[in-house]
Amino acid sequence: MKVVTVVGARPQFIKAAVVSHVLRKNHTEILVHTGQHFDRNMSELFFEEMDIPKPDYNLGISGGTHAQMTGRMMIAIEEVLQSESPDWLLVYGDTNSTLAAALAAAKLHIPVCHVEAGARLHSLNNPEEINRICTDRIGTLLLTSTENGLNELKKENLGDRSVFVGDPMYDAFRIYSEKRNIRDVRLESLAGGEIPVPDKFYYLTCHREENTKDDITLLEILMAMESLDAPAIYPVHPRNRERALKLAVENRISKVVLTEPVGYLESTCLVCNAEKIVTDSGGLQREAFFAGKKCVTVFPLAVWPETMVGHRNDLAKPEAKDIIVKLSLKQEIDGGYHPFGDGHAAERIVAAMMKGA
Ligand code: UDP
Repeated sequence: MKVVTVVGARPQFIKAAVVSHVLRKNHTEILVHTGQHFDRNMSELFFEEMDIPKPDYNLGISGGTHAQMTGRMMIAIEEVLQSESPDWLLVYGDTNSTLAAALAAAKLHIPVCHVEAGARLHSLNNPEEINRICTDRIGTLLLTSTENGLNELKKENLGDRSVFVGDPMYDAFRIYSEKRNIRDVRLESLAGGEIPVPDKFYYLTCHREENTKDDITLLEILMAMESLDAPAIYPVHPRNRERALKLAVENRISKVVLTEPVGYLESTCLVCNAEKIVTDSGGLQREAFFAGKKCVTVFPLAVWPETMVGHRNDLAKPEAKDIIVKLSLKQEIDGGYHPFGDGHAAERIVAAMMKGA
C-alpha cells in the first residue's frame, strides 16, 4: 500500500509521528509538509524529538488569508498526488492543510482517509470546524478518536464510512510523555535568556483566532493567570507573540512567564507537572485529561465533550472572573473512563486503510 500523508501544523506532526512509525513497517509512505507551521520550535523540533521521517516534499506554503493559503496548497498538493499516484491520501485534524489535501485528492479520485474525523463544535464561526466538516463530507474513510465522533458522523449520514479507532494523540502521550524530566526542561523566555521551570506552576496556552483577534480577550486571560497563587508558563504561539508581549509590558504582568513555543516532549512534561491547565487548544485539553490534570478551556463550545465529565475540563468565558471560578471547581476522576481508546489507534488506522485499499 502506498500512502501520501499531508501534514502542516504542530498537532499533525504529533499524530503523524505515531502513525508513520507503524505504517512504514510494511508500507510505503510519502510525507508532504505544506509549510503551514515553519518556525523551528513549531516544526523541525517535533521532527527531531519524535523521530518523524524527513518530509519527501516541503511545499513552503504559509501565511495569507485562509483562501490564499488553502488555494496555494491545493495547487501544490495536486502536483504531488499526480506524480505519486498513491492508494490513499492520509490527513489529520482540521487545518487548512487538511482541507486543501482532501479537496485535491477527492477531485483526482484518490481515496481520502481522515483521522480525527467527526469532531464537532456545532458552529461555523470557527475556521477549523469548516475544515472538519468539508473534509469529512468528501472523505472515503473517516476514523474517529471517540465514540462520540462516530455518533456525530452517523447523524450526518456518514456512518457507513466511519470507524472508531481511538486517538493517536493518546498513543503519542503514552509513548512520549515520560521521556523528559521536568528538571531538564529549559524555557526560552520571550524577554530573552533561559529560565528554569518553577516548582509550582500553571500551564497556559492560547492561540485560537477567537481569543487572539483583539487585546481585550487575551488581557482577561493574562489577568486571570496573574491572580493565581503560582506563576503560569505560557509558550506563545507565533500568531499572537506581538500582542502578548505588548499586553504583558503595558499591564505589568509579572506572574505569567512568556516563552518561545516548546517541543512536544517539554509540553507533555509541563502538562504532567502543572498544578492546572488553562488553554484553548484541542490537543492540550485532551493531554490534561490523559494526565488527570484539571483543565479550563477558554472557549464558548466544547469540541471534546468527553473531557468535560466531573469538572475535569470546564469551559470558561474569556473573562478573568469566570476563568478563576472554573479553575476552582474540583474535578472528579473516574479511573474506568477511557473515551480516547487504548493507546493503539495508530495500528487501527493502518489496518483500516489496508482493509479499504
Ligand atoms: N504544544 C507544544 N508546544 C507548545 C504548545 C503546545 O508541543 O509550546 C503541543 C501540545 O502539548 C499539544 C499540541 O501542541 O500536543 C497542540 O497543538 P495546538 O495547540 O497548536 O493545536 P490544537 O490542538 O489546538 O489543534
